[in-house]
Amino acid sequence: MDLDFSPEDQAFREEVRAWMRANVPPKAGPEIGLPSHLETQAAWERKLGKQGWLAYNWPTEYGGPGWTATQRYIFDTERAAAGAPVGSPFGLAMLGPVLMSFGTPEQKARYLPPIAAGEVFWCQGYSEPGSGSDLASLKTTAVRDGDHYVVNGQKIWTTQAHWASYIFCLCRTNTEVPKQQGISFLLIDMKTPGLEIRPIMTIDGHHHLNEIFLSDVRVPAENLVGKEGQGWTIAKFLLTHERTAIAGVSDSLYQMDELRSAVASDPSLAEDPLVRRRLAALEVDLMALEYTNLRTLDRVAKGQPPGPESSGLKVKGAEMQQAISEAQVELGGLSALPWMSDDAAGHDVFRSATQRYNFLRASSIYGGTNEIQKNVLAKLLLGAG
Ligand SMILES: Cc1cc2nc3c(=O)[nH]c(=O)nc-3n(C[C@H](O)[C@H](O)[C@H](O)COP(=O)(O)OP(=O)(O)OC[C@H]3O[C@@H](n4cnc5c(N)ncnc54)[C@H](O)[C@@H]3O)c2cc1C
Repeated sequence: MDLDFSPEDQAFREEVRAWMRANVPPKAGPEIGLPSHLETQAAWERKLGKQGWLAYNWPTEYGGPGWTATQRYIFDTERAAAGAPVGSPFGLAMLGPVLMSFGTPEQKARYLPPIAAGEVFWCQGYSEPGSGSDLASLKTTAVRDGDHYVVNGQKIWTTQAHWASYIFCLCRTNTEVPKQQGISFLLIDMKTPGLEIRPIMTIDGHHHLNEIFLSDVRVPAENLVGKEGQGWTIAKFLLTHERTAIAGVSDSLYQMDELRSAVASDPSLAEDPLVRRRLAALEVDLMALEYTNLRTLDRVAKGQPPGPESSGLKVKGAEMQQAISEAQVELGGLSALPWMSDDAAGHDVFRSATQRYNFLRASSIYGGTNEIQKNVLAKLLLGAG
């Protein structure tokens, strides 16, 4: 979509584009866009951090560039268009806003600068076996013992836990009150004795996920964010930010561009009316999604929270990512078969399509499943239930 930028924003776009051209590492093959290699991802985040652009959604007082919503939008689309990965979201898009709103001055001073500099990875300890969609039923306990909490339980599906220095964790601190009121939000050092990480491999062939076992893990009480029992409020606040980030609109625009150029380079595809029709349908959906994304960004720019619309964005964003990757696999044909694609002629986007397709099956699950988002939308926007 061609947006009418002011001359200042246009100049900003040129600056970001030139920087990306000079600094994005050469395409590393199918992994690009899916953060699965620690060294590549860490080096990229430090480079952005040094430039002051990693925490690009943050205000200057916390180490962000203090950009306007339009500048943030421009930065993210240029980043994606250059084929560069997003920063790991757990510190940047999730914990950062939480600490800015609920953290003590000490917590802000200690944890925010290393996130903005790209010096540290965080992970998110929400889900447990049996407590995913029904998150408030979580059973991991944190019992106060002097100036510590003692944490026991299990977390699961913890993305990048094996990279992370810290985990932000929802724990039950009170079993006597209604379940939402008994939850607290704790920051835990991953090296604390009693915390064990076990890997879970996924169908895309990478190690993104983990299980975490916590046995008598002693956490300083000063690592409680907000008040005891305020964890559910914080969790909900964080999830709206997570869902807006998950929609991945800039990356879908990039993948769509790649698909369009792959099709254009192959006359048997480019001249096929069914293929053209499929591309057109994807383009229309993507444009509608982009407008919705811009509306949400506008709310945030005016100082309002992303709101329940972030659930709609998450649903459509996930569907879009899946639909584009499906088209990439199906139109790629032989080039998209992983066991043939090293030798097969064909565009890069087809060669990496199967891995992306498999990974993106999860996009309608993580951050709260699409079914749950539809329930949220029905309740908050339509007043149902
Ligand atoms: C790749 C990936 C990365 C993830 N990363 C993290 C992470 O870093 N940290 C973290 O804490 N969690 C993470 N998760 C976990 C994710 O948030 C949960 O998987 C998700 O919330 C669903 O929970 P569940 O797996 O327990 O499924 P369940 O809640 O058991 O759901 C199973 C099915 O039932 C449906 N369902 C359940 N309840 C309802 C309902 N009321 N109405 C309609 N349908 C319903 C669901 O939509 C789903 O299809 C990750 C998951 C994946 C796949």
